[in-house]
Amino acid sequence: MRMRIAIAVLLFIVLARPVQPAAQQTPAAPLVIRGVTLIDGTGRGNAVNATVVVEGTRITQVGTGTLTVPAGAQIIDGRGKFLIPGLIDVHIHLAGGGNRTNVQPITPQQELSGVRALHTYLYAGVTTVFDAGNQGSFIFALRDKARANAIISPRIFATGGTVTSPGGHGGPFYVEAWPQDRAILDQHLAGKPDMVKIGQDEHGWGTRPLITQLADDLLEKIIRYYHSKGVRSTIHISNEHNAIEAIYAGVDTLAHPVIQSPISASYVNMMRVKRVPTASTLTIGESYSRLADHPEYLDQPLYRDTMDAADIQRLKTTESARMKNDSWALWMKVMTPVAQNNLKRLNDVGKDIVACGTDRSSGADVHRELELLVGGGITPADAIVICTRNAARFLGKLDELGTIESGKLADLVLLTADPTVDINNAKRIEMVIKDGQAIDRTRLDVVANRKLPAAAKR
Ligand SMILES: [Zn+2]
Repeated sequence: MRMRIAIAVLLFIVLARPVQPAAQQTPAAPLVIRGVTLIDGTGRGNAVNATVVVEGTRITQVGTGTLTVPAGAQIIDGRGKFLIPGLIDVHIHLAGGGNRTNVQPITPQQELSGVRALHTYLYAGVTTVFDAGNQGSFIFALRDKARANAIISPRIFATGGTVTSPGGHGGPFYVEAWPQDRAILDQHLAGKPDMVKIGQDEHGWGTRPLITQLADDLLEKIIRYYHSKGVRSTIHISNEHNAIEAIYAGVDTLAHPVIQSPISASYVNMMRVKRVPTASTLTIGESYSRLADHPEYLDQPLYRDTMDAADIQRLKTTESARMKNDSWALWMKVMTPVAQNNLKRLNDVGKDIVACGTDRSSGADVHRELELLVGGGITPADAIVICTRNAARFLGKLDELGTIESGKLADLVLLTADPTVDINNAKRIEMVIKDGQAIDRTRLDVVANRKLPAAAKR
């Protein structure tokens, strides 16, 4: 009995520890951004001559009136500048991960690849990512290091491996028999996933062969099981039927929009009511034909600054040529405008539904996602909301992230031009702040900084 109490006390101590060790950071001086045009991520419209006060990791005051400036604060002159919340990508697959079944500790080379990819996000103003499928031992190790402030990184949420039917989309957690296969889900849960990603796709559409998928009743049991452990869910779907079945099986979010067809009026109406967060993931599908048709996009500063010259060269030549004849690239070229329109129609009926996701592994891709959202008819102002507040809502973190409001974690990006006028202005980054700390972009391990001679680095 005494033993049991001891265990209970121990368990209480373990569970009562704060989940986010960000509080362990060395306290920086309070930060005050004054005179800035505030684009707070709520969709409220730009507020001119605003002041934002950051103390510790949090935003403590926001307003256009007179605010109390804390003693010893570092003042940033925001006049002529624009402040948005840190961008969030809710669907990435971080580079560097190996086979998803590999449970070995990560190698130094893997860690280097992962950290370099993570730095491209911070460089581009992305302060939070959700990895929607990777080698668990890889992504969880990086996530834990990021939380312990052992690496400079955007905040990471991750699923590790994904759950699907044997032969289905993703893996390596294959579920077929219930309740026996709960043991497989327990293996996944042992990695402490922030969300579970389920793969549900028949393929057999576009240029891909048919595969198996989970029966709807099994899907519901899986989602219920994760919910009983307090874990949120997202699901890979590509058609409207699977999206609807997943929603009624209780899924929390969709990892992709419907991309196999234009959505029906009844689907739009259902989403008007259910408002299920839907990751936009336009960039992945469009990337192939873009590379085939417009490889010169890789000369843009954000790509040039964050990708190895040799990789850019290979993409512009060999890969571009290969994509010209790739059937999937052609298929996605046809379907991307359909997906863009589906997302616009969802955004028209619920401004909090669409959430920014790229299905890629770099910060530059998030800016492409913004461009494609706007290219599909969504306003730049709404695109910012999609990549900030709505993405936080997708992650179930709206109480902590996604908008510039008092009490939230201070993830901020200072821009030199207005992104609500031209979404390309979201690339004109002057400063990135995460957890109340300014990130020194010149110290990030990205190509632009590696090119500098050592003496030029601060
Ligand atoms: Zn994905």
